[in-house]
Amino acid sequence: MTQRKEIFINGQFVSSRSGRYDRIINPATEEVITEVPTCTDEDVDQAVIAAKDAFDSWKQTTPGERSTALLKLADRIESHADELATMETHNVGTPIQFSSHLIEFIVDNLRFFAGAARMMQGPASGEYMANYTSMLRREPLGVIGSIAPWNFPLAMAIWKIGPALAAGNTVVLKPSELTPLTALKLAELSMGILPPGVLNVVTGIGTEAGAALVRHPDVKMAALTGSVRAGMSIAKEAANTMKKLHLELGGKAPFIVFDDANLDEAAYWALASGFYNSGQDCTAATRIYIQETVYDEFISKLIPHVESTVIGDPLSPDTLMGPVISEAHLMKIDQMVKRAVNDSGCTVLTGGSRIDRPGFYYKPTVIAGAKQTDEIIQEEVFGPVMTVTPFTTDEDAIRLANDCKYGLASSVWTKNVDRAMRASKQLDFGEVWTNTHLFLTSEMPHGGHKMTGYGSDLSIYAVEEYTRLKHVMIKCES
Ligand code: NAD
Repeated sequence: MTQRKEIFINGQFVSSRSGRYDRIINPATEEVITEVPTCTDEDVDQAVIAAKDAFDSWKQTTPGERSTALLKLADRIESHADELATMETHNVGTPIQFSSHLIEFIVDNLRFFAGAARMMQGPASGEYMANYTSMLRREPLGVIGSIAPWNFPLAMAIWKIGPALAAGNTVVLKPSELTPLTALKLAELSMGILPPGVLNVVTGIGTEAGAALVRHPDVKMAALTGSVRAGMSIAKEAANTMKKLHLELGGKAPFIVFDDANLDEAAYWALASGFYNSGQDCTAATRIYIQETVYDEFISKLIPHVESTVIGDPLSPDTLMGPVISEAHLMKIDQMVKRAVNDSGCTVLTGGSRIDRPGFYYKPTVIAGAKQTDEIIQEEVFGPVMTVTPFTTDEDAIRLANDCKYGLASSVWTKNVDRAMRASKQLDFGEVWTNTHLFLTSEMPHGGHKMTGYGSDLSIYAVEEYTRLKHVMIKCES
């Protein structure tokens, strides 16, 4: 175990006032990596005071100055890319090839936000009433409480911190209690680039440190990526202080294979996007709907891919699938699979059990025979489990795909552009891919509809969310 960590407040690492610590586990080995403070209201209050003080001068900086700072932070992250990727792989179990790629993506995201800081838009200033000139001021909100999940800890933190800082806000970040290491490293890397108090990191559990952040009257906006359960609790709490909210919650992405699709590609990408990060991805392809005329052929191509997935040590460059995050999460996944079989009468085509080795490994699992109303179709498993279901017509496919409380991501597989365009209009999701799945770019928004919440990560729209609008009108008679 390495030395215990401290929290980051006002530009320094300090001890938590709680005196309590959470153990941080490597999910591939079950070994304790280190311990981090279990923060309470008192620590959160100190962090918010620091962020509030820092806001007075950070909000006065020009977009160009903030842009320069974010570019320097991106450079520093890039120069520590290997260390950050390895740390993420140790803590989350994400295979190193994917962690490394994610760090490259994060660097690109931050560089985009640095540019976006200088490009905020709104209606042009002008004389909309004779002799009265209207101007629009887009202002930062103040202190932002950013709350991140465990599945992509640094990426999800950067997606909140980047636009918030670009817009001139200051931040208190609370990473997941399971995966706080890269957030604390980010704090260290920010030293000398961001003035003290502009970025603060408190660790601890959601219902304690996270809830304290959401409750705090000096936090002007709460931004969460996490579960629907946490989002609902935060939305209720935020009502008391009328905080602005940004909620990126769960997903249950449909992956629709039409009869004219390239089945080889579709089968490969069902595997790649279903089991990426052990299926612990809010956009993971979890509900595979296949036109009945090509169902058998598709399954015969999918199953060999799934069964040849390289599962193992996430630090090995060849590994494609590592463990899931914790013993408790593995048990939850296994129980959902067991209920699908025992209560709903589904069939496991492959997988369906824990892998017999140290660490929290679960076999990549494909389930057939689920009814649309079954839990395994309707609820997020957030593990390496997908369902395969035949459909008859295009209308059926869209109806089945939309029949779900989540609305984050979806994909269609077809060579017919009309079919793809029709589906993209009809699918009730924030993202619709054609002949691909999973890919995001810094320039385009990522966000969901329905119970997935509201708000956009990435793109100029993310930066705008961390601002408020002010109409300034000047009477000037000519
Ligand atoms: P979680 O909701 O358990 O925790 C997320 C964060 O919220 C953690 O930091 C946690 O400590 C905190 N938290 C929990 N309850 C809280 C409360 N009452 N008040 C304040 N903070 C609270 O989620 P998780 O298990 O860490 O992450 C998995 C979930 O995140 C999945 O549902 C997944 O779909 C979702 N997710 C969504 C996106 C997206 O872009 N929509 C991206 C990644 C993950």
